[in-house]
Amino acid sequence: MSLKRTKIVDIFDASLVGQQVCVKGWVRTRRGNKNVQFVALNDGSTIKNIQIVVDLAKFSEEELKPITTGSSLCVEGLLVESQGKGQTCEVQAEKIEIYGTADPESYPLQKKGHTMEFLRDIAHLRPRTNTFGAVFRIRHNMAIAIHKFFHEKGFFYFHTPLITASDCEGAGQMFQVTTMNLYDLKKDENGSIRYDGDFFGKQASLTVSGQLEGELAATALGAIYTFGPTFRAENSNTPRHLAEFWMIEPEVAFNDITDNMDLAEEFIKYCVKWALDNCYDDVKFLNDMFDKELIERLEGVLKQDFVRLTYTEGIKILEEAVAGGHKFEFPVYWGVDLASEHERFLVEEHFKRPVILTDYPKEIKAFYMKQNEDGKTVRAMDVLFPKIGEIIGGSEREESYDKLVKRIEELNIPMKDMWWYLDTRKFGTVPHSGFGLGFERLLLFVTGMANIRDVIPFPRTPNNAEF
Ligand code: ATP
Ligand code: MN
Repeated sequence: MSLKRTKIVDIFDASLVGQQVCVKGWVRTRRGNKNVQFVALNDGSTIKNIQIVVDLAKFSEEELKPITTGSSLCVEGLLVESQGKGQTCEVQAEKIEIYGTADPESYPLQKKGHTMEFLRDIAHLRPRTNTFGAVFRIRHNMAIAIHKFFHEKGFFYFHTPLITASDCEGAGQMFQVTTMNLYDLKKDENGSIRYDGDFFGKQASLTVSGQLEGELAATALGAIYTFGPTFRAENSNTPRHLAEFWMIEPEVAFNDITDNMDLAEEFIKYCVKWALDNCYDDVKFLNDMFDKELIERLEGVLKQDFVRLTYTEGIKILEEAVAGGHKFEFPVYWGVDLASEHERFLVEEHFKRPVILTDYPKEIKAFYMKQNEDGKTVRAMDVLFPKIGEIIGGSEREESYDKLVKRIEELNIPMKDMWWYLDTRKFGTVPHSGFGLGFERLLLFVTGMANIRDVIPFPRTPNNAEF
């Protein structure tokens, strides 16, 4: 009778020492001499490998030949305390079954260090590396943390549609969804494409944000959050933009911008603490391998209050820096949409901690944000983080029907698509606020990875939809 398998994450339990165990996994390395061979086996449950000790008195060289990096095994044997450094216990192999071989000539993940670019080209295999195993275990844990945080605060997880016929933030960056025959498009007398024959009877796209529907829910259930895929066809080839990313969008009735800032700060700190408490082995590995200041940066965020200041004050600081000789690639003036270099200057050089900037010029923010009395700014808030720049964008929402309609008209947003949204302001309107956190931006921060393509299993970016 064969033994029940023990996951490697559970094998380092002292109570198992002295028992017969069965472990299964993929070979990371094999080394040794003609008396004894050592196989490092990993099953993905933890960054740690279990060492399999193979006595050549019990196994022939011929039997061991297929055991190369990447091959998959089932091993039974006695779990013993280890003499070697760096591991607490090891398995003395008594029975080895080889599930699958991995030809060393063609298996790309041999021992030598690979560049991140190379690993992106083999995204179907990269989860088998220590680095991506760590990143994707952390990704899972962050998703759990997010649901736990909101659930414990009494927020409801609300599912907003991925296919939408309304454009939340302005046209141009949406992926169209259609079943029309693109070789035979019907046009009207003005030469515009006719969508009445399309699947939804009108032009439809993949969503850029669940916010508008989130507001409908918040003005009914009180406090909700969304957590799902979001699509943007922006052609920005940066280390911080994906065409398909995951966004978390809480929306809360009766919250003003200060409540919104408090929520954002508490939320991010909860997630960062969760990573340190629940993924320490993986975080430590990434810290030691890639980014020696990672743990220090994560702990730093937990200790400090985020700086809160207005966009106007922020611009003043940046202008003073320019006057003092600091060189930015892009110009700084009141009204400019801040570039990542500006955001990072405020966070990394000026304040040396996370910053929440509020009250941006209305021209560079969305139509639904609450208008301030000055007539120039809106109650927007962006949370800016070290190494990342903008990690959260949010606002208090305009609750006045008249002001909102006026703004929609000024911006020439088609009113006919907005009737259901405007009903929230027509019937029992309330102050409310919310924000969007890019899940992969949070992961960049927590893992210390430098490129957003390396914190999502299969990145979608311009000219890239492989796998
Ligand atoms: P940015 O200025 O960095 O392009 P944005 O202002 O367009 O971002 P918002 O519309 O405010 O972004 O979206 C809310 C959050 O979603 C951002 O703060 C960011 O964390 C995340 N986000 C936005 N666009 C992307 C993208 N293309 N890829 C990954 N995350 C994104
Ligand atoms: Mn934003």
